[in-house]
Amino acid sequence: MLVGGGHSHVGVLRRFGMHPLPGVRLTVICRDTHTPYSGMLPGYIAGHYGYDEVHIDLSRLARFAGARFFRDEAIGLDRDARKVICRNRPPVPYDYLSINIGSTPQMSQVAGADEHAVPVKPINGFNQRWLLLLERVRKHAGATRIAVVGGGAGGVELTLAMQYRLRQELRTLGRDPDELGFHLLTSDPVILPTHNNSVRRAFERVLAARGVVLHCNAEVNQVSAARLHTAGGENVDADEIVWVTRAGGAPWLRETGLALDADGFIQVGDTLQTVTDPKLFAAGDIASMVNHPREKAGVFAVRQGPPLAENLRRAVHGQALKPYRPQSSWLALISTGDRYAVASRGALCLQGAWVWRWKDWIDRRFMRKFSEFPNMETRPADAAPSSVILGEEEAAQALSAIAMRCGGCGAKVGATVLSRALGALHPVERDDVLVGLHAPDDAAVVRVPPGKAMVHTVDFFRDFIDDPYIFGKIAANHALGDIFAMGAEAQSATAIVTVPAGLEAKVEDTLFQMMSGAIEVLNDANCALVGGHTGEGRELALGFAVNGLIDDDIRAVLRKGGMRPGDVLVLTKPIGTGTLFAAHPLLKARGRWIDAALASMCQSNRLAAQCLREHGATACTDLTGFGLLGHLVEMTKPSGVDAELDLAALPILEGAEETSAAGILSSLQPANVRLRRALRNQQQALHHPRYALIFDPQTAGGLLASVPQARAEPCLKALRALGYAQAAVIGRVLPQGDALEPIVLKLG
Ligand SMILES: Cc1cc2nc3c(=O)[nH]c(=O)nc-3n(C[C@H](O)[C@H](O)[C@H](O)COP(=O)(O)OP(=O)(O)OC[C@H]3O[C@@H](n4cnc5c(N)ncnc54)[C@H](O)[C@@H]3O)c2cc1C
Repeated sequence: MLVGGGHSHVGVLRRFGMHPLPGVRLTVICRDTHTPYSGMLPGYIAGHYGYDEVHIDLSRLARFAGARFFRDEAIGLDRDARKVICRNRPPVPYDYLSINIGSTPQMSQVAGADEHAVPVKPINGFNQRWLLLLERVRKHAGATRIAVVGGGAGGVELTLAMQYRLRQELRTLGRDPDELGFHLLTSDPVILPTHNNSVRRAFERVLAARGVVLHCNAEVNQVSAARLHTAGGENVDADEIVWVTRAGGAPWLRETGLALDADGFIQVGDTLQTVTDPKLFAAGDIASMVNHPREKAGVFAVRQGPPLAENLRRAVHGQALKPYRPQSSWLALISTGDRYAVASRGALCLQGAWVWRWKDWIDRRFMRKFSEFPNMETRPADAAPSSVILGEEEAAQALSAIAMRCGGCGAKVGATVLSRALGALHPVERDDVLVGLHAPDDAAVVRVPPGKAMVHTVDFFRDFIDDPYIFGKIAANHALGDIFAMGAEAQSATAIVTVPAGLEAKVEDTLFQMMSGAIEVLNDANCALVGGHTGEGRELALGFAVNGLIDDDIRAVLRKGGMRPGDVLVLTKPIGTGTLFAAHPLLKARGRWIDAALASMCQSNRLAAQCLREHGATACTDLTGFGLLGHLVEMTKPSGVDAELDLAALPILEGAEETSAAGILSSLQPANVRLRRALRNQQQALHHPRYALIFDPQTAGGLLASVPQARAEPCLKALRALGYAQAAVIGRVLPQGDALEPIVLKLG
C-alpha cells in the first residue's frame, strides 16, 4: 500500500510497472491525481511550462503499474488492524505500507499566518492558490506588494519566478510592470544558507538587480492583514504574502504511535523502514533518516524511489533489506525565472542560460519516464513466479484460489467471508420490508403499500476501474437510474455479485469496499438492501435488482412515450463515459478526465428526476448502454414524434472528444452505430467531431427528458442549482414528418 504520490512513490510505481511482482497487489491512495514535479514548479510559475508538463498523472501511472488507484486522503492509521483511515471511504487494509506524503505548512505557529498568508506547501495544492493569486494581482488596481517568507532555494526561486511571470502579465494588460514590489524575508543571516558563497552572491546580485528587497535576520513572528511583523520590530507591508518556510509532518501522524522527529517527520532507518514498525516505510520529505539527516528536497525523495522499491520487494519476499545512504552533496539547479539558472554543488557554482537549458533537458527527461510508457505487451518479462511470504493458512487459501474451483453450490463465496464482509454494513431499514437482511431468510418479503404499484428493474456489469468502493457506488447508482427515470421512489434491492477467488482476507475486503460504496448510494435513496447472491467469477462484477414504488395510476408514470412536438430535450449529465473508459486501460485518458467522469457517474439522478417532474416533463429515460441516440429513438418511437439533436449543445465530459477523435471507442459502440439508420442527415454529420459520441454507451448516465419549451429555462436553472452543472437543452421535439428517419442532427 502506497500512501501519497510523491517523488519516491512515482519511482516505485514505475519500477513495479516495468517488473511486476506476481502475487502482490499494489494500491496507491493519494489525495491528488496529478502530482507536481517540484524541479519544474518554478518554471511553471514563470510561465515556461504548462500544467501537464510539470505534473505526473498518477491515475495513468498506477494503471501502467497494475496498481489500484484510490483517490483519497489518508487521515490516520489503525496500526493494530493494519488499516489506513481515509477521509472519504472505509478503512483500507495493508500488509506493507509506505508513506510519501510530503510536508505540511506549520503556519499556525506564527500568529495570523494561517489567515493572511498563502502557503506553498503542500506543493500539490499550490497551483490552485497560485492561480487565485495571479487573478488577484491582475485585478488589483495600482501598485501590488508581494512578500515571500523563506530564504531557502524554494523561496528564492519562487520569488524570481513569480516576479518574472507577474511582470509579463502586467505588460500584457498594458500596465506598468514596475507597479510590482517584491520583498524576500528570511530569519537566517543570509539567503540560501545550505549553498556556497558564490551561489549566494550570484542570487544576491540577481535579487538586487531585479529590485527585490531582501530582509535577512528577519524572523516573521506575526502576520496581520497586509502586514508582516518581525521579531526585530520591523514591519513590512504586503498585499500578498507567500509562505515558503516552516514545514513539518502531517498532524495526524502524531496519533499513529510512530516515532517522529522534532518537526513531526517520521523517523526511518537506513532501509527506509520506520524505526517503530518494520512493515511500515516512509520516504521523501515526510521521512527523517535518523542516521543521515538531509535537507528537505525533491532530489532526495526521487533518489529514495529505487531503494524503496527494492526494499518493498525484498520485504514481501522475506529477504534481507538493503541499507541506503543518501548522497551528502547534491547538484541543485536553481533558476532565476528568466530562463537562466545557477548550478550549485559543494563549492561549485556555474551559471548561465545554458545551465537553464541543461536543467530543462534533465527535467523533461525525468518527466518522460512518467508519461511515455513502454507498450504493456512488450515490457520486460516477469521474473520467475515470485515467492511472496504467506502464513500457512494464507498459503493454503492461495493454492486453493489457483486450483480448479469446483463451481458447486452455484460457486458461492464462503459463508464466513460473506457474513464478515456484510456484517459491518448497515442498509437502511424500512417498515415495508417485512423480511430483509435484518432477519435473513430464503427470500425477502416486501409490502406494496395500498395505492402504489411496483416498478422492477435489473442491471449488472463488471468492474472497470479497479476501485471497488467507487465501483460499488456507480453500480448502485446505475441500477437506481431506471427507477428514477420512471418517476418512482426506490424501495428495495437485491444484489448479485461475482468476485474472483483469492486470499480470504482480500476477497472479504474487496466485497466490503464494494458493498460499502453500494450501500451508501442505496441508503441515500432510502432503498433497503434486502438480500443477494455472491459467487466466484473471473472478474469482479456487481448488479442489482431494484424495486421501486409509484402511484398506482399509469398517468403518473414518467414513460418514454410521452414526448410532444414543441417540447425541448433536456439532458442532465454530460456524455462520454464509454470512450473515456475504453481509453483508460490503454493509458490514453488523463487522470483528471477519469476523475470527472467518475464524479459524474457517482451523481444520483434522484433529484434531477424530481426536478424534471416538477417542471412538467412529458417523457424521460436514463442514458445507459444504448447511448444518446439509442435512448432518444426509444423515446421518439413510442411518442410518434421526430426530434432534432443539436450537436453543439451536447454536454460532454472533458477528454471524451479527444479520445473519440483518436478512434478509441467502447466495444459496445459498433452495435450502437447500427442505429445510424435513424439519422436523416447522417452523411453530412459523419465528420462532425461529436458525431461518434451520440453512439457512446453510458454507465450511470444522466436523464434525457422532454420538457415543455416554456418551462425549459427555469428547469435548467433548477437543475444547475441542484448540482447538475452541465445540464443542457440539447434539442427539440418535432412533429412526425414523412421521412423514415426520426432524428435530424443540427450541425452548426
Ligand atoms: C517552489 C519550490 C521549488 C522547489 N524546487 C525544488 C527543486 O528544484 N529541487 C528539489 O530537489 N526540491 C525542490 N523543492 C522541494 C520539494 O518540493 C520537496 O522536497 C518535494 O516536493 C518533496 O517530495 P515528496 O515526494 O516528499 O512529497 P510531495 O512532492 O509533496 O508529494 C506528496 C504527495 O502526497 C500526496 N499526499 C499528501 N498528503 C496526503 C495524504 N494525507 N493522503 C494521501 N496523499 C497525500 C500529495 O497529493 C502528493 O501527491 C521545491 C520546493 C518549493 C516550494
